Amino acid sequence: MFTQIAQMAGPDMPRDSFDREINYLRISLTDHCNLRCVYCMPLRGLTFVPGDEVLTAAEIEQVVRAAAKVGFNKIRLTGGEPLLRKDAVEIVDRLHQIKGITDVGMTTNAILLPGLAKPLYDAGLRRINIHVDTLDPVRLKRVMRFGTFEQIWTGIEAAEAAGFAPIKLNSVVVRDYNEEDVVALARLAMDRDWHVRFIELMPLGGGECARLSLSQYVPNPETKKRIETELGPLEEIPPTSPSDESRNFRFKDGSPVAGVVGFISPVSDPYCGNCNRMRLTADGKFHLCLLNDDEVDLKPALRNGGGERAITDLLARAIAQKPTGHRLDEGVSTQRRAMFQIGG
Ligand code: SAM
Ligand code: SF4
Repeated sequence: MFTQIAQMAGPDMPRDSFDREINYLRISLTDHCNLRCVYCMPLRGLTFVPGDEVLTAAEIEQVVRAAAKVGFNKIRLTGGEPLLRKDAVEIVDRLHQIKGITDVGMTTNAILLPGLAKPLYDAGLRRINIHVDTLDPVRLKRVMRFGTFEQIWTGIEAAEAAGFAPIKLNSVVVRDYNEEDVVALARLAMDRDWHVRFIELMPLGGGECARLSLSQYVPNPETKKRIETELGPLEEIPPTSPSDESRNFRFKDGSPVAGVVGFISPVSDPYCGNCNRMRLTADGKFHLCLLNDDEVDLKPALRNGGGERAITDLLARAIAQKPTGHRLDEGVSTQRRAMFQIGG
């Protein structure tokens, strides 16, 4: 796989010190959220980035213009909940027009999609990943807290009506919360051409969410077995991109719809060797690996008028310092930031 990436890369693609092609920037628009998923965001003791420390739409555009110049082509907006930003549509519009950026996506909990799906689509967003942990309204309230299943489902329908295809759903599997509900979620891929993906819990931030993520962890092989026992065998679909973190399957029964069941398994089957990502936090730091505290601060350069050269220099430094992979098996993870402060 590694050699494959090397062969596919063009001469201008940025590469890290392990020869991985880094061309995908995930941008957190905010650390605020309208939900409080048990493994992501605690109910109490939260501190947020002060408003004037959060990158503005113009600053985000400046970073992406510089990133595009050095070969980045794929952007994903995340959070916190990215749609809490009043200028989320404007940001999509600014980014999708940048020369070299071929793909702008978003990861959202869908609560605000009923009013925003169409404007986002019209602004150039084409990929949307929607987070829903269960189809059971009572259990959804327990795991995602705040918000309702009905709101999320209405958001999913709004995304489909706006033209997003395929609809991709993300479910984090949590022991004693929703591990049985994976069957009903996977069944959606029998009836619709949606991608339903199951994510393994990761411990971030060192607090209560990290402790829960460790104690309630469900390995994806167990989730896959549960789905196959109830719904029949799955057959793997060859990856279309070596850096796709999801291993994708369809039901073997030859069901007529093109629904996909995916497994994102950073713990049981790490994909660090194919990592193509850089992350930008809402307060303007390049976060080098999701599961590591190392960061390169971009904001001073941005705010002191450093210009494009300063941004590309810092980006080059961030890429050069990217760790080879996570060390969860040695008990190492982020301590300074929980998931809502990075963006997944
Ligand atoms: N609020 C949006 C959402 O929920 O999709 C975007 C931000 S959220 C931090 C991005 C992704 O991180 C979500 O798909 C969520 O499922 C995932 N996530 C959050 N905490 C996690 C954890 N501890 N382990 C694994 N995935 C997690
Ligand atoms: Fe909010 Fe997304 Fe974290 Fe849930 S996973 S608390 S929706 S940021």
